[in-house]
Amino acid sequence: MSDKAPGFDTLQIHGGAAPDSATGARQVPIYQTTAYVFRDAAHAAALFNLQEIGFIYSRLTNPTVSALADRINTLEGGAGTICCSSGHAAQIMALFPLMGPGCNVVASTRLYGGTVTQLSNTIRRFGWSATFVDTDDLDAVKAACDANTRAIFCESIANPGGYISDIPALAKIADAAGVPLIVDNTSATAYLCRPIEMGATLVVNSTTKYLTGNGTVTGGSVTDSGRFDWTASDKFPSLSQPEPAYHGLAFGPALGPMAFTFHSIAVGLRDLGMTMNPQGAHYTLMGIETLSLRMEKHVANAVKVAEWLENDPRVEFVTYAGLKSSPYHDRVARICPKGAGAIFTFGLKGGYDTCVKLIDNVNLFSHVANLGDARSLIIHSASTTHRQLSDEQQIAAGAAPNVVRVSIGIEDADDIIADLDQALAAAMA
Ligand SMILES: *Cc1c(COP(=O)(O)O)cnc(C)c1O
Repeated sequence: MSDKAPGFDTLQIHGGAAPDSATGARQVPIYQTTAYVFRDAAHAAALFNLQEIGFIYSRLTNPTVSALADRINTLEGGAGTICCSSGHAAQIMALFPLMGPGCNVVASTRLYGGTVTQLSNTIRRFGWSATFVDTDDLDAVKAACDANTRAIFCESIANPGGYISDIPALAKIADAAGVPLIVDNTSATAYLCRPIEMGATLVVNSTTKYLTGNGTVTGGSVTDSGRFDWTASDKFPSLSQPEPAYHGLAFGPALGPMAFTFHSIAVGLRDLGMTMNPQGAHYTLMGIETLSLRMEKHVANAVKVAEWLENDPRVEFVTYAGLKSSPYHDRVARICPKGAGAIFTFGLKGGYDTCVKLIDNVNLFSHVANLGDARSLIIHSASTTHRQLSDEQQIAAGAAPNVVRVSIGIEDADDIIADLDQALAAAMA
């Protein structure tokens, strides 16, 4: 072996996965078990004390799920990663060790619709709140951070509008405020964007999307950079102080760069139970093996389709950041130099009704509330994913009534374009 660190294409296949120690199985086995036999009472006690690392019960850890967590951790360049039952579960798991009643998260206005709903409504049940700001207005982000702020939250490539977050600038503001920057890297993946290298503390992924890549299972992950000093202030008592929910262990002082990850397993997964199952982890491990190949093709197709749409007189605008005309074109080179992903929106001349007709006339595209599939997908956000949002929130999120969102698949680009062409003709007729 050479001393050079393996490249991304190697890690997406080998990361976290040695041949099985019990059987030599080359592929990661699906460890379909709930519990693990302790060697003896002392072994059991050492595991529960976190003095020895091992498997106790699959709500906490499972070898198949751990292999996936290690692989995602390697690809994101983190210190530790946990997997969860969905992307939304991952977001709660990312916030859980940081927040308490009265605490807030400063969040970008440009987010996945479900995330806006989760952060604006549902987290209030825990006594948490979110302050939404335009993250291009750095002064507004700074001003929104107050004494009760515990994190800044953004998406690397924001859903659905083809917006690119200035991660280094936001990381700087988070540092100054003494709070972590959380980046949802779902639409970009670690192949296109490296938030931790740009200063993010936590990276969340919905593994449901590109990481699995075939629309089979929901899942999520939280990766910690291991670089945030939780003990530098009194803002994060769950990590800096003795944790009453885990026999008084002070995770930060005891576990250093692994504090967040161990707290997420020993308290978060244990008590909230948003666990990924081993079958789900298996599908995602299979998908990740081809991540870079798929992302290259997704991006190449997205560029072709976006350029075609931009030149079509029936289309009012295209938001893809990979277009030369995009206001975020320069930012792509800095934040996601391998490409701006494959999710974008376009606006139709004609508005809401024309959009609905377009959706009803596509053949190759699937009309689904999903993205990041090998298949091309389409949805009218205003009538579906962003339906719970006010008009103002819809517009801020880039999901106005005349806007259609597409997730460009890895089919032949000519076939994708032909399908849009005939559906646009039908919609305008
Ligand atoms: C899908 C998605 C989520 C939520 O993930 P689930 O796996 O559906 O819970 C969060 N953020 C982004 C950017 C997404 O695309």
